[in-house]
Amino acid sequence: MSTFKDKVIIVTGASSGIGAGCAVHLAGHGGLLVIVGRNASNLKETAEKIVAAGGSEPLKVIADMTKESEVEEIVTATLAKYGRIDVLVNNAGILETGSIENTSLEQFDRLMNTNVRSLYQLTMLVTPELIKTKGNIVNVSSVCGLRSFPGVLAYNVSKAAVDQFTACVALELAPKGVRVNAVNPGVIITDIHKRGGMDEEAYAKFLEHCKVTHALGRPGDVNEVAAAIAFLASDAASFSTGVSLPVDGGRHAMCPR
Ligand code: NAD
Repeated sequence: MSTFKDKVIIVTGASSGIGAGCAVHLAGHGGLLVIVGRNASNLKETAEKIVAAGGSEPLKVIADMTKESEVEEIVTATLAKYGRIDVLVNNAGILETGSIENTSLEQFDRLMNTNVRSLYQLTMLVTPELIKTKGNIVNVSSVCGLRSFPGVLAYNVSKAAVDQFTACVALELAPKGVRVNAVNPGVIITDIHKRGGMDEEAYAKFLEHCKVTHALGRPGDVNEVAAAIAFLASDAASFSTGVSLPVDGGRHAMCPR
């Protein structure tokens, strides 16, 4: 229960899915959470789950990650309350489908701004604090960053950028004692696919198909990603940096045959 005792941990996109599950998990292990999202009532729900799991009341920051001044406010509010930052979990992200034949530049910009630019900005701002605390970063990438799938072009490009960002920043900050890693989930049951345009029927078929597309024969659960994030963020991973860790039921290792 004390892995993250008194560690100040920022989790973006904490109002749902992997971010919410991760925030509850890390708080349950003693972390002092800063939960970031756009939806106040959903953030409140995450805060209630944290307290119910035995965690301390988190700091809630309402921010749209694509707005520079709101991203700045995350750091200002965190330092005003806690005076330090130990862990940054860059989780907020969106999924949109489309190929080179039908993905507009507007869509491309939206995906890159949300999944890459905002993460770049927040990491820039938090880095000086992580150097002081010898803290670490965990980025939430995707199997789509490691492997290529047709029809999810801009999303795949954004997640490949997250993996390259992870490795480059890991090398840049290693001499300063800051570790930087990523998790690369396969299909995890959250709202992201429906938010990305799938209706109930298509989503049910998609989950069924996961039996074939994931070696372990099923989609994953938010808690399985939260556990991997917690490992990378903890001292148990003290000699790991620049890692993109698949949490995907073996999907990254599969080849069609
Ligand atoms: P989700 O939609 O439940 O969570 C994404 C969160 O990011 C939401 O809370 C959303 O509000 C937030 N967000 C999106 N745009 C934002 C913005 N502009 N400002 C602030 N917050 C914003 O879905 P999830 O599956 O939990 O996704 C979390 C991360 O996991 C994403 O980066 C996603 O790409 C990644 N991921 C998910 C899966 C999956 O199958 N669920 C697989 C691989 C990677």
